[in-house]
Amino acid sequence: MPELAPLARARDLAAFIEAAPSPFHATAEAARRLGAAGFRPVDPAGPWPEEPGGFYLRRAGALVAWRSAPRAGATDGFRIVGAHTDSPNLRLKPRPDTGAAGFRQLGVEVYGGALWNSWLDRDLGLSGRLTVTGPDGVRSVLVRIDRPLARIPQLAIHLDRGVNDTGLKLNPQLHLVPVWGVGPAGAGDLLAFVADAAGVDPAAVAGHDLMLHDLTPPALLGADEALLSAPRIDNLLSCWAAVEALVGGPDAGPTGVVTLFDHEEVGSETAAGAGSPLLPTVLERIVLARGGGREELHRALAGSICVSADGAHATHPNYLDRHEPGHRIAINAGPVLKHNSNARYATDAESAAVFRTAAAAAGVPVQDFVVRSDLPCGSTIGPITAARLGIPVVDVGVAQLSMHSARELCGSADPAWFVDALAAFLADRR
Ligand code: ZN
Repeated sequence: MPELAPLARARDLAAFIEAAPSPFHATAEAARRLGAAGFRPVDPAGPWPEEPGGFYLRRAGALVAWRSAPRAGATDGFRIVGAHTDSPNLRLKPRPDTGAAGFRQLGVEVYGGALWNSWLDRDLGLSGRLTVTGPDGVRSVLVRIDRPLARIPQLAIHLDRGVNDTGLKLNPQLHLVPVWGVGPAGAGDLLAFVADAAGVDPAAVAGHDLMLHDLTPPALLGADEALLSAPRIDNLLSCWAAVEALVGGPDAGPTGVVTLFDHEEVGSETAAGAGSPLLPTVLERIVLARGGGREELHRALAGSICVSADGAHATHPNYLDRHEPGHRIAINAGPVLKHNSNARYATDAESAAVFRTAAAAAGVPVQDFVVRSDLPCGSTIGPITAARLGIPVVDVGVAQLSMHSARELCGSADPAWFVDALAAFLADRR
């Protein structure tokens, strides 16, 4: 793969984010990139490939990809990078049509820990999947509508005079209900509209997973374009970096695995989440296809290690008091190792050393994050993956501001550094 300058790679990340308004689209875009690099899809209901090469298995909003070197052995360890495809957002209720005061509106639920205020006064599109019944059974159809379809109008300041002093209080049931037209309450038929946009018969739609997205495209920001302003940086940045690191890697070397889970923002305990058997099953089947059994699987796991790749908090210039003074985190200063003595992150001395060594080999600087002792700490798929597989895991990510906003902000040089560090980690033979 030709080496791209950091800004060109930041633009490629922006393209990945643009292609992925929903987790289903994120795995479709990852599969497209993997396919273009020669990776082949694997059907979990079919026989497992025994030949070397690049493969991927996709399950809705989750995807596992791997590259098997020629002559890889059943007891060889895995180098794994994990990330998540989902971001906090607003998702449509089962019967979304509602309304009041002459407006057609959409009933939505908040998905994950969204910053609710960031969704106000934005022109919103819609994406996700429909399940459609037909003669061959039920199939899933991706849908995305990229024109302004809905908006959550903020209350005028004249009707809420204290809002700038006392803070904005939002009740998600009452105040986060988007408008998408005028007419009698419930007169709209959103699902028919979406079916039409997807080119399917509205009567055949048997289910939907639909969500809203801000239509403002990602942009490089600042006089010298030092920043990237975009939605879903947490955690599509890590998904993109993991896929780029894998497809750019050599055919030889350890078996590199990239696992993109869904549902991290809501606890990971789903069939597509980090709590599922998805990754352990893929690893076991790789070992079985190499002629190994349970013994060889356990020997392979004993030599395996995982990077849990997820966003990190940059030190906010307007809220310095929210950050640990001895561990400032800067933008465009390299990936961030995340530490927590209560195991909210999986990083320990040994796994940190493995990542530091790989980053150093790639010429990439590394920062160290720890939350203030008087603030609670977030978490990732790291501790879950460590507990499920019993392997060392290191939590690492790119520094950003506005995490869980509809519009996040990171550096434009850090994404390229993250790819380089992950590529070095995947290729490391130790
Ligand atoms: Zn995240």
